[in-house]
Amino acid sequence: MKIFKSKHKLQKEILHIKNISFVPTMGGLHKGHVSLIRKSQSFKGKTLVSIFVNPKQFNEKKDFLNYPRNLKKDLILLKHLNIDYIYIPTFKDIFSFKVKNKIYLDSFSKKLCGKTRKGHFKGVLNIVNRFLDLIKPKYIFLGVKDLQQSYLISKHILKRKINTRVINCKTIREKNGVACSTRNKNLNKHQFKIASKVIKYLKNKKRLIKKKLSNFDSINTKKDLINLGVTKIDYIELINSKTLRKPRNKRENFRIFIAFYLNKIRLIDNI
Ligand code: AMP
Repeated sequence: MKIFKSKHKLQKEILHIKNISFVPTMGGLHKGHVSLIRKSQSFKGKTLVSIFVNPKQFNEKKDFLNYPRNLKKDLILLKHLNIDYIYIPTFKDIFSFKVKNKIYLDSFSKKLCGKTRKGHFKGVLNIVNRFLDLIKPKYIFLGVKDLQQSYLISKHILKRKINTRVINCKTIREKNGVACSTRNKNLNKHQFKIASKVIKYLKNKKRLIKKKLSNFDSINTKKDLINLGVTKIDYIELINSKTLRKPRNKRENFRIFIAFYLNKIRLIDNI
């Protein structure tokens, strides 16, 4: 396992490697990250994992500062997983060079998380564009837990004709149904239980809508979620994940997209 903090040293090392499978992360690694990494290792070539908490994608400084970090633990895990390369840039290292491609921000960036997190996706694409420029990976592994993010990265790659294939990876969940997330580390036991109730509620809601037993009424759904102990709901929307539109009939495949707060902690999921 080779660890790089400088892009020049990293680039020198990987210059002639054609098959790089890239897994970008913000650290605070959990089972979701591990599944992306394992998937990347099932592809031919080398695996490169980055750890960087990108300040540009946080709306509030406090949220950035409170984001759970544990580099020591992450490195032990990555060593155990036998990763080839790890890139842990400093802010200066990753933001102090001219990138070839301009960011392409698809209009879907204005929906869902884009409504309440101004500049968030621009910040995400800025860093991913830089990583792609430096690493030139054959594959990039992204989680569908952040489906909007993965979609926007795919659109950027397509539009800018970048020679990297996006591999979408399924959401890994805790036993109680809550999607693994670094932010879960900030939840107390009570909040974790509420998060579990929310997921169970949404799974049931989806089942009932599919069975045509229930229409989706966002106002009442929000009320139910508040009664379960949710502090605030940024959005809850039914979306066909292929067309990205609201499903027009019950036969269409859809997912329920949600962003909600438990006290100050914001969680997102799609079910
Ligand atoms: P993050 O460190 O939160 O920026 O996430 C890094 C990558 O892991 C992103 O592509 C996420 O979509 C993915 N990811 C996060 N949580 C999960 C999960 N529970 N299951 C699968 N992938 C995930």
